[in-house]
Amino acid sequence: MDPESVTRSRTMDRLRRFWSGNKRFQLMLTLELAVMLPAAALIGVNFYHLKSIERDKALEAAFHRDFQQMLVISEKQINHKAYGMVEGVRDRFPSPDADKADKIRALDTVLTQHQSLAHVFLFDPVNGLVLRSQPDRLSDWHFLEEHRRLEKTFAGWLGFEAKTMLETLRKRSRPVSWYAERTKRNGRYTYTTTGFFPLPHVSKDRIVLAGATFEPEYLWHSFFPEMLEALIAYKHGEEGGNPIAMVVYPAEPDGDTATLTLTGYGGDTTASSAGWRDGAPEVSRNFSDVFDGLALGIKFQGTSVAALGRRWITNSFLILGVLSLLLVAGLVLTYRSVSKEVALARLKSDFVSNVSHELRTPLSLIRLYAETLELGRVKGQQKTAEYYAIIRKESERLTALINNILDFSRIEAGRKEYEFRQTDLAELVRNTLDTYRAQIDEQGFTFEQSIDPGLPPVPVDREAIARSLVNLVNNALKYSDREKFLGVKLYRDDGAVKLEVRDRGIGIARNEQAKIFDKFYRAGDPLVHNTKGSGLGLSLVRHIAHAHGGEVRVESAPGKGSTFTLTLPLEPAARQPDRDAVRMAG
Ligand code: ADP
Repeated sequence: MDPESVTRSRTMDRLRRFWSGNKRFQLMLTLELAVMLPAAALIGVNFYHLKSIERDKALEAAFHRDFQQMLVISEKQINHKAYGMVEGVRDRFPSPDADKADKIRALDTVLTQHQSLAHVFLFDPVNGLVLRSQPDRLSDWHFLEEHRRLEKTFAGWLGFEAKTMLETLRKRSRPVSWYAERTKRNGRYTYTTTGFFPLPHVSKDRIVLAGATFEPEYLWHSFFPEMLEALIAYKHGEEGGNPIAMVVYPAEPDGDTATLTLTGYGGDTTASSAGWRDGAPEVSRNFSDVFDGLALGIKFQGTSVAALGRRWITNSFLILGVLSLLLVAGLVLTYRSVSKEVALARLKSDFVSNVSHELRTPLSLIRLYAETLELGRVKGQQKTAEYYAIIRKESERLTALINNILDFSRIEAGRKEYEFRQTDLAELVRNTLDTYRAQIDEQGFTFEQSIDPGLPPVPVDREAIARSLVNLVNNALKYSDREKFLGVKLYRDDGAVKLEVRDRGIGIARNEQAKIFDKFYRAGDPLVHNTKGSGLGLSLVRHIAHAHGGEVRVESAPGKGSTFTLTLPLEPAARQPDRDAVRMAG
């Protein structure tokens, strides 16, 4: 192999090792690729999409299109209504061959029955024009003038145009032709329109034209407002959403309709739906046909398309922002839980190797000393006794370890049961310590024991409390290096009995003090790593404390020593369930 490929294969090797050794990295990478990347891409695409909607004002354009459509439909409906009204009175018109008096009477009847009409008329070239106006309005000077003007205009005009008009009208499916004009009411200009139509009951080859002019007051006070309300109600009922408002007003001047501008009118030439208030329409459309010269406008009530667009965009960005935050939060949470799982997995594997190690050492010692004794090579009574003591001590250690593991597995499986009996704790503590006395002295520890006299009996599980004490004492012995001191105190305090185990050993860093009670957890101190242990002892002590309704606390300073205090309440009422069984190292 050439040096280059050696380097390459080494790098690959290192990478492979890194990959298989770093579980957390593997998991996070999978998570990133499988979940985060697509989700982030989706958010990114949405963000871009929103930006382009914002830039192109696409939303506003969509609203406008919708409004345009609504206006087209509305104009059709309004026209339809106007056509219908005129078509409804056609049959009531008298025959052109009737007497003038009969014609007048018939036309007057049409007027009294239809207050919405200001004038009705009938024209034929032989008899001329008969134009009748609402009788009770004729006292109004403007109205009278209008009557006269129309009489004159229509008579002259129809004289020339009636034939051509009829020819055009007969080709239409709805034969009405409209003529809009400016007129006056109450001293102010207003708008009205007149429909010209052939009479259905008159032979087609005769030149006979009839007509009806809408009363402007009716148009502006009833017709338009009612139509607008109905249109809006229909639209709202169909789609819901933001309420809209509509208005009818004189169209802007353009070419033919130059005279019909808003400035040429008084106040009575705007009709709007209830929610209009004021302001300009968002979209408008000029009427043609019936109401030529007027325009129809539409907008949202109380808001504008631009504002709606802005709000929608802002909301969408907000939602997107929240989603991104959730995504990040999800990532953090997953990262933490993955880290926890990985840490726990590592702790478990450490635990297995620690326990195997812990089992092997006493076993080999026991075997070694037993073999030596068996071979009869030991000289002297004292040496023999010493060897026996070692065997006993090591088997005690084994028992303690196995008891811890068994207890732990019972707790994990939720099968740990305690048997509470009124117990003289002083005696229990004394007896337990007595079996340890030799070991304590032998390891060169100064031992201080202080047991308050006259302590009341406490309901406890004896074995469990003895095991807690053994664990605490063992830890004190294990984690002391320079100053070897062990203090055990039993005293009454505030409705509880407290058992305190004190040492002047290596101590525990502040940030580790809460963690040491988690299962498998062992502090980072090098001495701890050189000392055998399973990381189960304190988690058992805490479980036992809680099962007794008490607690265990630690006070410690690195290099100065630690004090563990187990509190056992005199009243057993507050016993807690197995809540720690599933807690793990953080
Ligand atoms: P083990 O002793 O088997 O490791 P424990 O659950 O008994 O497990 O203790 C957990 C950790 O707490 C120990 O690994 C050690 O880091 C720390 N610890 C416990 N007791 C003491 C003590 N008396 N002094 C210093 N550190 C201690």
